[in-house]
Amino acid sequence: MKNMSGSQLAVLGGTKAVIAELGNMFTWPIITQEDEEVALDVLRKGAMSGTEVTQQFEDDFRQWLGVDYALGFNNGTSALLAAMFGCGVGVGDEVICPSVTFWASCTSAYTLGATVVFADIDPITLCIDPKAIERCISERTKAIIVVHYFGYPADMDEIMAIAQKHNLKVIEDVSHAHGGKYKGRNLGAIGHVGGMSLMSGKALAVGEAGMLVSNDREIYERAIAFGHYERNDNEIQTANLKPYIGLPSGGYKFRMHQLSSAVGRVQLRHYDARHEQISLAMNYFWDLLEGVQGIRAHRPDKGSGSYMGGWYAARGHYRPEELGGLSVTRFTEAVRAEGVGDCYPGCNIPLHKHPLFTEADVYNHGKPTRIANSSRDVRQLDSGLTVTDAISERLFSVPWFKHYRKDEIEQYANALRKVASNYQELLVSDQGNPPILGGWSMFAKK
Ligand SMILES: *Cc1c(COP(=O)(O)O)cnc(C)c1O
Repeated sequence: MKNMSGSQLAVLGGTKAVIAELGNMFTWPIITQEDEEVALDVLRKGAMSGTEVTQQFEDDFRQWLGVDYALGFNNGTSALLAAMFGCGVGVGDEVICPSVTFWASCTSAYTLGATVVFADIDPITLCIDPKAIERCISERTKAIIVVHYFGYPADMDEIMAIAQKHNLKVIEDVSHAHGGKYKGRNLGAIGHVGGMSLMSGKALAVGEAGMLVSNDREIYERAIAFGHYERNDNEIQTANLKPYIGLPSGGYKFRMHQLSSAVGRVQLRHYDARHEQISLAMNYFWDLLEGVQGIRAHRPDKGSGSYMGGWYAARGHYRPEELGGLSVTRFTEAVRAEGVGDCYPGCNIPLHKHPLFTEADVYNHGKPTRIANSSRDVRQLDSGLTVTDAISERLFSVPWFKHYRKDEIEQYANALRKVASNYQELLVSDQGNPPILGGWSMFAKK
């Protein structure tokens, strides 16, 4: 129906494209009586601390991912810190990481006396660009941190080849991509070690919890030694860890709360089936939008054997040049007006722009920690991040469907198609993008 201005767009007074009730389409995690019962069981047994349930969860996780070792953590941040320590990252070392990610992918390198060198991302995958990695390598580089960003599997073959050539470790941050596959292989099981959040906003949503996975006994044992005192016992085989059993080398206490472990076991049991619903729904949404000018799906090509994991904080690519230069800010405003609640511009703000990485002297070194922890001024490398610096105005968030209900999904897809097809009506009122799009966290309120 056209309004007086002659437009059909809801933002200009037309009728909304989405009339479906929200229902449980976006409710996550899915909590049933099964979750409630196991949580109550832990409470009634007074087993909130301890590791018995956590070790059962770890067994489930190992089998699910097909890895030799899994170690539960209180959150993803500490799992990733322990992964770095596991890889031998220490004083004066460098880790290479993409700059558009959640800070926990790399910020704790400082804690180990190490520093971060940021590599550019690939504009299509949004993951670290293998071509950019080699330029960042120095004689102090110890590890490459790979983030399967917004669920997209990074180019692991190329990354593993570079790592092998330079004798580096690869840490997969799987916090966005549980259940994803790269050429048929499970994300998290390809690098030397995987670390991931199981926080309740993520795809595999447990609560405050994290998991470290590896096929490498020494990395696993170092991760135990670092922050799991009660498991740093006689079973440790690594010779140079043996003298220090009993106490945590890192001085940390990282074990998982057993309410999380218990709920985690239930969530994991149902994850593949629920994940399949998400994948069907998200792929259907993008199939409907195939060929629409100005927008592109963020997902691997069909037939590549690679699959999105979880679709956490799913994004679409935005191509303003196909829409007369319409800003992503105005575009998403118009889409939200059509009844699509979660449609905002941008992604994580690049970390290299934050003063924590340019000037903060965190540990009283008398100079910025970023440099103090290194033998060179790694900040110079920031200048090369051209894709990273321009990416936020070429991305927008899309609804994260949890159920494959075609008629509802069609309404959401119609909303995007409607705005993209009528973009010319929005050009006059377009104020452009603000200087900063996105946020430091994707979980923060908009
Ligand atoms: C959420 C997240 C983490 C940190 O996990 P927590 O469980 O919140 O500590 C690490 N890396 C990425 C990419 C994340 O999104």
